Amino acid sequence: MHVSAIIAAGGRGLRFGAESPKQLLTLGGRPILERSIEAFMSCDVITDVVVALPPDMLPARPAYLAADRARLEVVAGGARRRDSVAHAFARVADRADLVVIHDAARPLVSDALIRRTVAGAARSGAAVAAVGVQDTVKRADAAGIVTATLPRDELRLAQTPQAFRTQVLRDALALEGDATDEATLVERAGHPVLLVEGDPSNLKITTPADLALAEYLLGRPSGVPRLRIGNGYDLHRLVAGRPLVLGGMTIPFEKGLQGHSDADAICHAVTDAVLGAAGAADIGRHFPDTDPAWQGANSLDLLRRAVAVVTGLGFAVGNVDVVVIAERPTLVPHIDQIRENLAGVLGCDVSCVGVKGKTNEGVDSMGAGESIAVHAVALLMGPGAGTTS
Ligand code: MG
Repeated sequence: MHVSAIIAAGGRGLRFGAESPKQLLTLGGRPILERSIEAFMSCDVITDVVVALPPDMLPARPAYLAADRARLEVVAGGARRRDSVAHAFARVADRADLVVIHDAARPLVSDALIRRTVAGAARSGAAVAAVGVQDTVKRADAAGIVTATLPRDELRLAQTPQAFRTQVLRDALALEGDATDEATLVERAGHPVLLVEGDPSNLKITTPADLALAEYLLGRPSGVPRLRIGNGYDLHRLVAGRPLVLGGMTIPFEKGLQGHSDADAICHAVTDAVLGAAGAADIGRHFPDTDPAWQGANSLDLLRRAVAVVTGLGFAVGNVDVVVIAERPTLVPHIDQIRENLAGVLGCDVSCVGVKGKTNEGVDSMGAGESIAVHAVALLMGPGAGTTS
């Protein structure tokens, strides 16, 4: 069976308010139109694809619409949606058994939904993806007064894909008049239209909020968020006879932090924040203080290893913010160097590393100068976040 797909991309997307047509905006780093086309190109029940574009886009078309791409044709769209579809239909009417029409603005269409719609049309002649209505639906007059509450369980919201036997679509497109979808014309032509189960994720991207929601849906195929926050904390005693190491540098002071490693509480707190954001256990698990390997260890190096752990899980560090609670010494002269040390190891720009010193107003062990404590937060970007390709 020869199944031709028509991607209706002829509109200008004026409701979106962007400069370029909304189908050219990027979603997860790729144009919305490219995603919609690829959904059909990669579906093995689809024989070929025709894209109806705004005529001014034809001369400088992007690579994914290249003229020599097998199974893909591009035609100029028309003034109305139905004109665009008619132009595309003219290319395939002689060869297709079934034609499936899809809005370019629905880039999250799944392979299963395309198949379900095509199978429905093969069975019944015309099939439309549709979803149930969650909200109560009111009809109102021009003054906003409700004139009826419609029975929700009888209502469905039509999406695309919409698939038709070629003769059914030919009959429909021969009718006069406009319609917001092809199924409406098919109904007017007197053909029964079967509803198949649509997909709430098959969003029509009409507003910036839709695009944000689509980004979100695209980024969490397994329900895992792409942006991850981690929290770290550390405290070490201040004792005589030790160097004071903080943020990978030795700070002149009469005492130092006590610990198995160099006791760099900044690096320890940041390490825990980074590991925590990835759900990757904590510093004590990765670098146990019972292991002689970490005796006197350079904690900036431990942080580097922790970053390698989360990088291996597909994360990149977005930014880190640190609060150091120390009555003395003042960290101000050293903060820029500490930020640079951390940024170098975290693999982010120094502007993405914040370090602030606080005193504890003489209260508790930190205020009494017996200890230094550090709080840190880290933001990690997971696979797919912020990608441009
Ligand atoms: Mg520590």
